[in-house]
Amino acid sequence: MRAARRADRGCLDRALDRRRGTRGRTRVETLVSRRFVLLDRDGTLNEDRPDSVKTPDELVMIPGAAEAVARLTGAGVPVAVVTNQANIGRGVIDEAMLSRIHDKLRREIARSGGRLDAILFCPDHPERATERRKPGSGMLREALESFGVEPGDALLIGDSLKDLEAGARLGCRRALVRTGKGRATEREGVPPSLAPVAVYDDLAAAVEAILEGAP
Ligand SMILES: [Mg+2]
Repeated sequence: MRAARRADRGCLDRALDRRRGTRGRTRVETLVSRRFVLLDRDGTLNEDRPDSVKTPDELVMIPGAAEAVARLTGAGVPVAVVTNQANIGRGVIDEAMLSRIHDKLRREIARSGGRLDAILFCPDHPERATERRKPGSGMLREALESFGVEPGDALLIGDSLKDLEAGARLGCRRALVRTGKGRATEREGVPPSLAPVAVYDDLAAAVEAILEGAP
């Protein structure tokens, strides 16, 4: 893990070097290179399941999601997953199984040429939740600190109010996708306290907008 973080920092340093050296030359790259994307997992990257993803076989990617991460990787934008996994706190799966599920997630994304720079999960049972569990912002803070990113430079993308609230608490920009629980979240209404929230059909559409310079 430590080695991985060093590699991630290296990636960030290179992004900063690029920014310094590209004045007036490649504005799009300059715009995206200071960015950082925090991704919810279930309903954003992979299909949501009411009974939760319990095995690697149950992890089914949302169409276009792996390619979307690959586009971020290609643009030099680090990506960290922040996922609530109460099924560990509930005793449904253990951390070894979650690790196997995440190995599959990484493989699916690697097959499209993309990379998850970090995966953070919170095992808390909802009734014994700490600040790490979304809508708490603890996991998001950990991710930003380990990459040396300011909250205002990070975009949180998710399908539920918990995601948006976690992002809002920390001061990250926020986007809702209509996959997973996203349509229901949109229909039920996003509280004004969480605005502004950009809304996209799916992760692919969100990434398209980001790379075109959407805030
Ligand atoms: Mg979700």
